[in-house]
Amino acid sequence: MSDLENLLDLTPAHALDRLTAFMAELGLPAYRARQVVRHLWMAPAPDFAHMTDLPAALREQLAARFALPRLTAIARQRSSDGTEKFLFRLADGEAVETVAIPDGNRVTLCISSQAGCALQCAFCATGAMGFSRNLAVHEIAGQVREMRLLEPPIQVTNVVFMGMGEPLMNWKAVDPALTILNDPSGLGIGARHITVSTVGVLPGIVALGKRPEQFRLAISIHAPSDALRRELMPINAKYPLAEVIEAARVFDRRVTFEYVMLGGVNDGEEHALNLAALARECRAFVNLIPLHPGGARGFTASTRERVGAFARELRAQGIEVAVRRSRGVDIAAACGQLRTERLGRGTPRAPEQDGHVHVEG
Ligand code: SAH
Repeated sequence: MSDLENLLDLTPAHALDRLTAFMAELGLPAYRARQVVRHLWMAPAPDFAHMTDLPAALREQLAARFALPRLTAIARQRSSDGTEKFLFRLADGEAVETVAIPDGNRVTLCISSQAGCALQCAFCATGAMGFSRNLAVHEIAGQVREMRLLEPPIQVTNVVFMGMGEPLMNWKAVDPALTILNDPSGLGIGARHITVSTVGVLPGIVALGKRPEQFRLAISIHAPSDALRRELMPINAKYPLAEVIEAARVFDRRVTFEYVMLGGVNDGEEHALNLAALARECRAFVNLIPLHPGGARGFTASTRERVGAFARELRAQGIEVAVRRSRGVDIAAACGQLRTERLGRGTPRAPEQDGHVHVEG
């Protein structure tokens, strides 16, 4: 459609290179390039016309060469607990969800990495809609940028890849997006405040572990045996539990296990004991997640009493455990629920495995 070069698909260092070359072509000083880079992420401008510290002629020349694509919020819902959920429309009509969760001085943004998801976890609304496509770099990091462009802005302090999609099946875009999120010339969010959540895509875990920054890894375990895990998470056939646990064990940072509490399915004492053994093996921290009603046809949430007992059973085995508070229940703020509500389930597309993981070196 347009041959403008998208600056928001580039890491800040790469964007600076491109802009420095551009300024040189125009015979302009290099500091002009740094001014533009500042307006990409740090102090984002909605478009070049708003970069008022640049001469008007230069703003027009930039707009003729480069693009700064926006995501369009087509729905915004606020929960009684302060959680806000956004539905963003992308340039090709796809839609993805982003959830902002305030907690004291922190705001955690739950972002999407794919439109839809190929993995079909039995209790997940995104799985039910099927896979559409991977998000581009600017569509991933852009979810945080859009928060800074709101009036008033939402100042995101933490990011979790727990929205729609499987981030480690889109490593090609997630890798540079992590750089943009963390880089002080980008969004400047500390690596320890950025969590990648995965079903256990092994090559992706290795790739994440090779990054020098201390990005956090969370693994969706959800069942302590292959038989049960395979029923809940078909991906277990490709990446079996033992291999996922081994990947977590050798990961050079401490990992978190996510465990969604499904009444009568995975919440028995024997499950707690088996889960504790796995968590001990890789010194994992366990996060118990109450089932969000909505996506989960055929499942019911474990009772509060059962969740509490399960947590105690884990603690008795020496495992560190937290029970996640369910946030935004009244606005359907679990994976995939808002899109499903607004746009319908649609026809699930073929679960095309566009999950190529590019591992460097
Ligand atoms: N694909 C990645 C990240 C997206 S989902 C992953 O699976 O880890 C983020 C977390 O939300 C996962 O642990 C997922 O299993 C969980 N989840 C999905 N549907 C849920 C629901 N209805 N209630 C509670 N948690 C859910």
